[in-house]
Amino acid sequence: MSERSTPRTIPIAAGQPRALPLPVQAFAAPAVADRPLQDQRQRPLRDLRISVTDRCNFRCTYCMPKEVFDKDHAYLPHSALLSFEEITRLARRFVDLGVRKIRLTGGEPLLRKNIEALIEQLAALRTPEGAPLDITLTTNGSLLARKARALKDAGLNRVTVSLDGLDDTVFRAMNDVDFPVESVLEGIAAARDAGLGPVKVNMVVKRGTNDDQILPMARHFRGSGVVLRFIEFMDVGATNGWRMDDVLPSADVIRRIQQDMPLVALEAAAPGETAQRWGYANANGQWDRNAGEVGVISSVTQAFCADCNRARLSTEGQLYLCLFAGQGYDLRSLLREGRSDEEIGNALSWIWRQRGDRYSELRSLSSTTGSQRPRVEMSYIGG
Ligand code: SAM
Ligand code: SF4
Ligand code: SF4
Repeated sequence: MSERSTPRTIPIAAGQPRALPLPVQAFAAPAVADRPLQDQRQRPLRDLRISVTDRCNFRCTYCMPKEVFDKDHAYLPHSALLSFEEITRLARRFVDLGVRKIRLTGGEPLLRKNIEALIEQLAALRTPEGAPLDITLTTNGSLLARKARALKDAGLNRVTVSLDGLDDTVFRAMNDVDFPVESVLEGIAAARDAGLGPVKVNMVVKRGTNDDQILPMARHFRGSGVVLRFIEFMDVGATNGWRMDDVLPSADVIRRIQQDMPLVALEAAAPGETAQRWGYANANGQWDRNAGEVGVISSVTQAFCADCNRARLSTEGQLYLCLFAGQGYDLRSLLREGRSDEEIGNALSWIWRQRGDRYSELRSLSSTTGSQRPRVEMSYIGG
């Protein structure tokens, strides 16, 4: 099989974290229903990330290391996955409560069979004001070249592609399944041609592993219309052998680019945005819009919990309120035990109102490197 034909599907054991309990009163109409929905730290619910599969054809060392996610890992049976109808039913309730953006993720979301059908269902949803949602997808790009057009036709607005280097040897080592960089670049080009832009490219930076790719990546995407973002290697999950020494702080990333191409700081595009934006400067020190921008996502060195408006729905329907949470709420049971839409909406509202999560903030306050509590894997709830 050529590397450009069907990628291998490798099972992932998700484990079955025990769900958080929902008290009886969670299903009753909230007493404060007339107030806008906010959590304990006055954060609204805006962004829903839905993991549509626990499988991936890559073995990125920072996410699904081969030694852990090997051939003996059992993946979820199909009956455990939320169906498209179940996902859409939940999404509708989330939209009622304030969600305006849905991101499909995984595992590798393009491995989920007929994902276009789900996108069509989600694209048909409307906010209470009658507006469509912003529907995006994060992918490793391996199947994008052949799927971009169908995704766009189904109603997808934009894509984010993960790409950890331009050098083929470095990239093949990062994905650890020997996948060539050229195929991902073809996927990015196809996404742009299909109108899935502005395409964002995410590069996870591991010090000493792919940090020599920062400048080549910045030079390659400067002026291309693609927004490149550098992500600090995070201590998410429990299997990627994370060490603070492997983190290259975003400030260093920006410093390295600045030495080659001057940058100016830009305003955040939207409240709760995770990336800090930098524009390429012209000779007058002003933002050269034609040259575009880069972003840094400083999840480790600069916590952005204060504005975090994201909820995450796992492949089997567990709702996680933080990327670093150890447990979620079992929404699949609510669907399958016959709860009404109203009861499910009330429960979601109850869950969000009691949310207090701020893991990254606490990590930066603590003298140790993060908590030792069990944490769910990134490949299970998506990025
Ligand atoms: N498979 C798809 C992909 O790679 O784009 C979607 C799922 S992946 C879990 C989502 C994002 O999480 C990717 O951009 C990936 O680079 C990022 N990610 C995974 N593990 C990470 C880690 N330990 N630190 C920082 N980012 C990570
Ligand atoms: Fe797969 Fe994405 Fe994780 Fe890489 S980051 S192993 S592509 S889920
Ligand atoms: Fe949001 Fe949790 Fe990340 Fe803080 S640590 S920004 S609460 S996902």
